[in-house]
Amino acid sequence: MAAMLQPQIILLKEGTDTSQGKAQVVSNINACTAVADAVRTTLGPRGMDKLIHDDKGNTTISNDGATIMKLLDIVHPAAKILVDIAKSQDSEVGDGTTTVVLLAGEFLKEAKPFIEDGVYPQNLIRSYRTASYLAIEKIKEIAVSIEGKSMEEKKSLLAKCAATSLSSKLIGGEKEFFASMVVDAVMAIGDDDRLNLIGMKKVPGGHMRDSFLVNGVAFKKTFSYAGFEQQPKKFLNPKILLLNIELELKSEKENAEIRLTDPMQYQSIVDAEWNIIYDKLDKCVKSGAKIILSRLAIGDLATQYFADRDIFCAGRVAEEDLRRVAAATGGTVQTSVNNIVDEVLGSCEVFEEKQVGNERFNIFSGCPSGQTATIVLRGGADQFIEEAERSLHDAIMIVRRALKNSTVVPGGGAIDMEISRFLRMHARSIAGKSQLFINSYAKALEIIPRQLCDNAGFDATDVLNKLRQKHALGTGANYGVDINTGGIADSFANFVWEPAVVKINAINAATEAACLILSVDETVKNPKSESAQGEAAASAMAGRGRGGAAFRGRGGRGMRRR
Ligand code: ADP
Ligand code: MG
Repeated sequence: MAAMLQPQIILLKEGTDTSQGKAQVVSNINACTAVADAVRTTLGPRGMDKLIHDDKGNTTISNDGATIMKLLDIVHPAAKILVDIAKSQDSEVGDGTTTVVLLAGEFLKEAKPFIEDGVYPQNLIRSYRTASYLAIEKIKEIAVSIEGKSMEEKKSLLAKCAATSLSSKLIGGEKEFFASMVVDAVMAIGDDDRLNLIGMKKVPGGHMRDSFLVNGVAFKKTFSYAGFEQQPKKFLNPKILLLNIELELKSEKENAEIRLTDPMQYQSIVDAEWNIIYDKLDKCVKSGAKIILSRLAIGDLATQYFADRDIFCAGRVAEEDLRRVAAATGGTVQTSVNNIVDEVLGSCEVFEEKQVGNERFNIFSGCPSGQTATIVLRGGADQFIEEAERSLHDAIMIVRRALKNSTVVPGGGAIDMEISRFLRMHARSIAGKSQLFINSYAKALEIIPRQLCDNAGFDATDVLNKLRQKHALGTGANYGVDINTGGIADSFANFVWEPAVVKINAINAATEAACLILSVDETVKNPKSESAQGEAAASAMAGRGRGGAAFRGRGGRGMRRR
């Protein structure tokens, strides 16, 4: 009898979970829409912030799409793609992270009815790609160049871009103040690509207007020993010695093992130790440096020794700070005090130890290499300063981008409306289904002005109708949402500007993500990888305790052990 049975073909291991076809595409679209919904309300100057707290008790308040997406800890495989595009937008251009997620979500939402009606996804994808190409060409055409302007003019133009980026953040109330600070900081580092040359130091307390920019390096006073108070705290044109060695007495005996036969020999060892350290200190002093910084500890003996010779010293300087001091002052970090030549010493115009709020700061200004700047941020709560730092980071990136690519487009949804109009016009000239798809793409772009209105409490339908009419006239290409009155206004005239590259990158990335998600019609979950993941999640959960599971989805919760 057994011979009569059909042989069963086993392709995948037992327990493998697969879902295929239309249903899978639709379910992926739904997941992505849910993610877009999570960040939807943060868009624009009137957007809301999100407070996210993890199970370790850290709380973060943020308006930045990339930060929120990162912290949400999304586990859905398709929705993770949206996290990736937000991150890539953040690292590529620095701003427009909410925009990119919203656009991708909206492209997919528009695609959903077609997929449900049985449209083959590849047809949609092809039309979306065409639309994205046309949109980007159009942006390039509309973009206004700021090249060839005078330095002063350029600065004020860049400040406008920075202000637009900042207007949607917690510190939006002081956007002019911070915008000019950001522009000065970016100008100070010149063409250098290294972002870490702009340092940010956070000092809780005070008002955010007490924040200031140092044309050079600033860092918090490090741990110091007795004798430090006798050191001078201000120098003009000092020489600066940067070290990566320990200037402490105790260190030598830990470096070697010595066997003694006669107790009398012990004294000679102690003497030798003292000689070694004094020799080191002497060499430091002879170098002519007035300021000595080390990444490692500078002990009490050394501190006192330097104090007696009117030299300032600081040990345990953070590596990043030391690197920035080196870049700014032109010095080189030394790993030995032998043969210190003049070339390795740095210099600056003024060095000062200053009180900032409750902290003391070491400030190096007027540095010859000039290519560093430090923003010292002040403000009430920790979370506030953290968010201020992230917001300034966005603004800094925007200014750098604008400086490099130097074309800007009107914001406030104006550019999105204009491309949308252009694509609709174009769609009319196409025969076939593609016309519908490009129309949907055009409609999806309207999400930006629509969401800006929704978040500000305006009647989105009303504003959008006005915008469509204005743009259709052909003379209102720069009209966008007026966030102050709830009507429409010329974004260009109101200086709501964004670098063109933000929009180009956002449209590109969002379209790619949407196409990628549309092209997936099967997800296979292999049982082995699932159990490995489950275990990792379970052990992580056991260590962390309660909470934080809301966005975690099934995997982590189901596997938790007692
Ligand atoms: P993202 O993370 O995408 O940068 P934001 O919350 O920073 O999101 O919002 C950016 C959007 O807000 C852009 O579309 C920009 O044009 C718009 N926007 C910024 N400032 C204004 C303003 N003053 N009036 C109208 N729209 C603005
Ligand atoms: Mg922004």
